Amino acid sequence: MNTVRKTKIIATIGPASSTKQKLEELMDAGVNVCRLNFSHGTHGDHLKVLKNIRTLNAAKRTHFAILADLQGPKLRVGIMPDAGVELVEGKELILTNKECDGSAERIYMNYKQLPKDVIPGENILMDDGKLKVQVVSTDKKENVVTKVVHGGILTSKKGVNLPDTAISQPSLTKKDLEDLEFALAQDVDWVALSFVRSARDIIELRHHISSKNSKARIIAKIEKPEAVDDIEDIIKETDAVMVARGDLGVEIPMERVPLAQKKIVNLSLQHAKPVIIATQMMESMIGNASPTRAEVNDVANAVMDGADAVMLSGETSVGKYPVEVIKCMDKILREIEEMHENLYYRETVPEKNEERFITDSICYNACRLATRVDARAIITMTHSGYTAFKLSSQRPRANVFVFSNNKKLLSLMHLVWGVRAFYYDKMVSTDHTVADIKYLLKKKGYLETGDLIINTASMPIEDKGATNMLKLSSIE
Ligand code: PEP
Repeated sequence: MNTVRKTKIIATIGPASSTKQKLEELMDAGVNVCRLNFSHGTHGDHLKVLKNIRTLNAAKRTHFAILADLQGPKLRVGIMPDAGVELVEGKELILTNKECDGSAERIYMNYKQLPKDVIPGENILMDDGKLKVQVVSTDKKENVVTKVVHGGILTSKKGVNLPDTAISQPSLTKKDLEDLEFALAQDVDWVALSFVRSARDIIELRHHISSKNSKARIIAKIEKPEAVDDIEDIIKETDAVMVARGDLGVEIPMERVPLAQKKIVNLSLQHAKPVIIATQMMESMIGNASPTRAEVNDVANAVMDGADAVMLSGETSVGKYPVEVIKCMDKILREIEEMHENLYYRETVPEKNEERFITDSICYNACRLATRVDARAIITMTHSGYTAFKLSSQRPRANVFVFSNNKKLLSLMHLVWGVRAFYYDKMVSTDHTVADIKYLLKKKGYLETGDLIINTASMPIEDKGATNMLKLSSIE
């Protein structure tokens, strides 16, 4: 029997994993989605990776998904001396938007609006929050005078976070728009937006995507306090969510991240939006052949929280063990899925006044029935993917098999918990389709004689309408 792992794995592709051979090894080890991080690399670098993934997908007849992660308004310091400079607690430090070589007294920041946006008393964090300065005064044009609160060595191009400041820069920068145009021309499946602040950022990105006639779906990266505050509206607007714990743990006190993660996962599931847990999941495997026990626990807890997908960054992009880390993650995910019963059956009772009440009710009852009769699979026909997202969000133990004539769904679904998608474009009758699909899944080794399965579909089939039918049957 073919066993289906439900939680998906996203691997960031970089120098350690970008060759065709390495990508194939990652795919064979269990990767579902390849992430291109536009904070690094040129379009030429990304193009090579895209070509390799496409070649492999064609040769292996697979549909591994591609996620383009836009950098967003990431703030950075400029060039510092090779050994860095020491910022000393209590000393004055000037941050300027005028390019200069950095010193212990004056450093360049790549954000023109900084002097306008900050106000005295606000904190500015550098290098993942390791260094902290506080704003003393600003001339509103060029220079911000600060006092060092937590000192240390500062080296070139380190990231800067302004957790207290209302940033006036738009969420989509000029670079993001260029990267987006490139990514959409390459027909990527998912576009992630960094440093989302409100639901309006998602609306704006969707407008850009639609204007290019693209069907790419959006992932909102939650890494700003404003986004945590506006989380319900962001989840309603977006197609999927990422808990980007790297920057989130700098922008809000890091001890708040675990509960924020649980809250974001729960809300995403309620709204049937896939949710990704990202950053430092297996960080020590960048250099070591096995993870720490705490990392194993972190991955397991993300699954138990209800994540659709877990993400690897440096571990697969620059790490020494990109394939081993996937194999290791795969083992943890399978163990939890097998042994932890509480993972399953999250009911979201459909509201009577909802627009898609009939479809939602079919999905809800398909999952309940699957639990009651211990069905092996729920099989759904869908063009938009709506029923697949809905079924998955109820976390049935039964596998969700999607059959669709929409080729785009085959790769999109690689991010969605418990779902496998297949291309299907025959349209004879509902009875014929159900029988045909049962035969196909048995032949592929996903089902065997005696298994109970549930079908959802739209009847009459030729109307291609909303899902309105539920059928329980067994495999002969
Ligand atoms: C993060 O901050 O956790 C994250 C995923 O973002 P990036 O890797 O793009 O900095």
